[in-house]
Amino acid sequence: MRTAPTILHLDMDAFFAQAEQASKPSLRGKAVVVGGLGPRGVVATASYEARVFGVHSAMPMAQARRLAPNAAYLTPRGGFYRSISEQVMGLLRELSPLVEPLSLDEAFVDLEAGGAAWDSASARLAGERLRADIRGVTGLTGSVGLAASKMLAKIASEQAKPNGLVLIEPGTERALLAPMSVRTLPGIGPATGDHLRRAGITTVEEIVEAGEDELVRLLGKAHGHGVYAMALARDDRPVVAEREAKSVSVEDTYDVDIHDRLRIGMEVQRLADRCVRRLRGAGLSGRTIVLKVRRYDFSTLTRSETLRGPTDDVAVVREAAARLLEGVDTTGGVRLLGVGVSGLADYTQEDLFALVAQAEAEALEGAGVDDGAEGSEGEGDVPPGVRDAEVAERRWHPGHDVRHAEYGPGWVQGSGLGRVTVRFETPWSEPGRVRTFRVDDPDLEVGEPLPLVRPEVEPGAASVGGVCG
Ligand SMILES: [Mg+2]
Repeated sequence: MRTAPTILHLDMDAFFAQAEQASKPSLRGKAVVVGGLGPRGVVATASYEARVFGVHSAMPMAQARRLAPNAAYLTPRGGFYRSISEQVMGLLRELSPLVEPLSLDEAFVDLEAGGAAWDSASARLAGERLRADIRGVTGLTGSVGLAASKMLAKIASEQAKPNGLVLIEPGTERALLAPMSVRTLPGIGPATGDHLRRAGITTVEEIVEAGEDELVRLLGKAHGHGVYAMALARDDRPVVAEREAKSVSVEDTYDVDIHDRLRIGMEVQRLADRCVRRLRGAGLSGRTIVLKVRRYDFSTLTRSETLRGPTDDVAVVREAAARLLEGVDTTGGVRLLGVGVSGLADYTQEDLFALVAQAEAEALEGAGVDDGAEGSEGEGDVPPGVRDAEVAERRWHPGHDVRHAEYGPGWVQGSGLGRVTVRFETPWSEPGRVRTFRVDDPDLEVGEPLPLVRPEVEPGAASVGGVCG
């Protein structure tokens, strides 16, 4: 393991919510919740002001609304967040060729590999400069953790939040980890955490006290060794520039085709168990459960199901695999079965990509409902004008950008009953006024996000004529 704290972990603070507050002056200092606003929606990010009420990522939106009824509820603007993310990742790549993104707003950087730092002092300097550059380029704050390993760099950035920097001096790691929850360690997901708790082990210190043999007895050989090493702060995992599309899978080919549906079900459960053992052994968890079935005629089907968050829980994988099997016709028999888990994370982290994708899909789903009904007959009880208004209403997603011919740029605060309420403000203006329009107002159109940092006026642009003359 290296001896200098030259692994950097960057995590933007409440990323989507902060981006929305920066875009919308009227929401600064207020509770803001970004996520899917439909009936099955979940919270992607809550601002720090909303977290005070107990709202957090991956919580059902209905629950968030009960906890913080007065918060602003916004649909994610995925393209906008991605463009900020690209700016941030670009700054990280200036520091080192070894940048490992974990999500849109989070990444590891090997500062030593880029020559950007070699000891504590230079690492701290690089981290502070990075934070200033991120602020300057994107207008947003991020927190930085610095340590000699990935595990500790991530713990450090968590401690630094919001808008801070924490450097863990090499040699102090074990004392720091000792009182922390076992869940802090990479490779300990909810299921492993519960398992250890039932054995009376809740803190990292208790893992060390239990000893390696006991850990191996509780978690199996590979997983036990791995967790014990992490508890001793031994983490040699390198920062890898491109995360390989990792997956763990197991499969069995049968000498004789299996016809019995019950037997097929039992085989799938057995494969799920084996797959999870392998997953845990590698200290991983994953979000997508895959079932593979090769039938008697060599036709091969794969079915998959993506969960809200990563899992290493055998019951969850078993259930998902069983659900997937329900949708597969096995009459005629099967000759091969396989169960896999992909979308792997070495941390059971909130998955922003997935949450944004889900929220956007829901927003589109809402918009698409009427497309299918368009031109359909037999809805004579709904006056045509009302239906048009409903279609128009669905264009206006809370939080999304609009432009009005007279009032300029603004964002949708809400819509309903044929009306849309727009707040007219920009990232660089004072909090703006609200105006209400008919949803089909021809002066109102969908707008583009404005940059959070005001584009600079070209210096000397006004005096070009004079200079040249
Ligand atoms: Mg973050």
